[in-house]
Amino acid sequence: ESPEKIFKYAILGGGVSAGYAAREFRRQGLKRGELAIVSREAAAPYERPALSKAYLFQKRPSRLPDFHVCVGSGGQRLRREWYRENGISLFLNTEIVRADLASKTLTTANGRTIKYQILIIGTGSTVLKLSDFGVEENVKNIFYLREISDADKLIEAIKTKRKGKAVIVGGGYIGLEVAAAMRINNFDVTMVYPEKWCLPRLFTPKIASFYENYYDKKGVKIVKGTTVIGFNANSSNGEVKEVRLKDGKVLQADIVVAGVGARPLTSLFKGQVEEEKGGIKTDGFFRTSVSDVYAVGDVAAFPLKMCNEMRRLEHVDHARKSAEQAVRDIKASENGELIEEYDYLPYFYSRVFDLSWKFYGENVGDTVIFGDYNPLSKEPKFGTYWIHKGKIKGVFLEGGNAEESEAIAKVARAQPSAGNLEELAKEGLSFALKM
Ligand code: FAD
Repeated sequence: ESPEKIFKYAILGGGVSAGYAAREFRRQGLKRGELAIVSREAAAPYERPALSKAYLFQKRPSRLPDFHVCVGSGGQRLRREWYRENGISLFLNTEIVRADLASKTLTTANGRTIKYQILIIGTGSTVLKLSDFGVEENVKNIFYLREISDADKLIEAIKTKRKGKAVIVGGGYIGLEVAAAMRINNFDVTMVYPEKWCLPRLFTPKIASFYENYYDKKGVKIVKGTTVIGFNANSSNGEVKEVRLKDGKVLQADIVVAGVGARPLTSLFKGQVEEEKGGIKTDGFFRTSVSDVYAVGDVAAFPLKMCNEMRRLEHVDHARKSAEQAVRDIKASENGELIEEYDYLPYFYSRVFDLSWKFYGENVGDTVIFGDYNPLSKEPKFGTYWIHKGKIKGVFLEGGNAEESEAIAKVARAQPSAGNLEELAKEGLSFALKM
């Protein structure tokens, strides 16, 4: 491309939302040379959740091109060639250091400019570091997980420190998934987190105690209610040797992996676009306050219609669907047509060891539990309904099959009256299955 070229569409970021947006552009009709995707990563868009799951497996780990989008939702795998075949300019290893929304110009780290007519911002999130919490990271072998390059560094360390000791900091999604992966790799694993139980944003104490007991059974140690305050290095090579905790404990470690949160990447747009909830404010079509600029995925703060509230969600299903919605709106607008506003049903999931859970809706109000919560059971299967103002607002299910997952999604969407709570507890999953 000549430097003067103006792309009709540009996507800033080459992650999950970029890949699903590209497919939607193609579906809706895209001419060669109209679309550019700019990513600082080396790989074409891929399903990021794989990085803390199958990518870290000891046996037959997943590798690209296996998990390029859109395989995560059962679609065709878009390899790098697909973009070429469709005349999409994929600028990889290209970091944007300046975005001027007024002149519709992106500037790369090498000083090259990319001009566009319509921009989709899909920059995602970056990890929070322990240093963001005031912990000095003065040792080697502290790892984070966001991009393939991070995962590759961790895998190198897993190979060098075979059967060593791993300390996992954080009891959220990443902490739980990485702890399981490190255990599968035969590490001696200890998790540390300040909360009273894991994944407190979603899990009730009852749900959390199942997973904590299950991890215990798998040999993962858990230290709760305290934080990491520092590290001691091996004086000969500067590698981490010990992790110091606030409660005075000291844990031995060869590897530390921290999953202590993420922050949406919005700094390129500061002062140029309206923000909300730490992200970029959009409407139900993912249009931002600047015309011809859309924001999708982790960075978008959008109206969650079913709750009549603004939300920002850092989850893959929303990244996919928001990207598709933005593209549909762009194409509809070109034809003078209107599409329906985004009406999203929140969906989160995770997979660890032989377990797999799904959650749909909102975790508000009282809870009703059902099923077998025994971590020693052969195939544990259980769930929780959340009930607010007499209606079922959210459903969690561990160990469900496809039909059951579909059923709980239906319940969370329809929000039926919960009726008598004792009855509901007795009926359990069959309540959802007969909807
Ligand atoms: P991303 O997929 O993060 O893509 C953003 C892209 O923009 C990246 O390629 C980045 O390099 C690029 N970029 C950013 N700034 C610039 C710049 N200045 N110049 C050029 N390129 C730039 N969600 C779930 O629901 N379930 C899960 O099990 C799950 N597991 C996860 C596991 C891991 C390890 C991680 C990190 C996330 C997981 N998530 C999961 C969250 C999910 O992956 C994200 O919500 C999703 O990837 C967001 O998509 P996105 O397109 O907004 O951002």
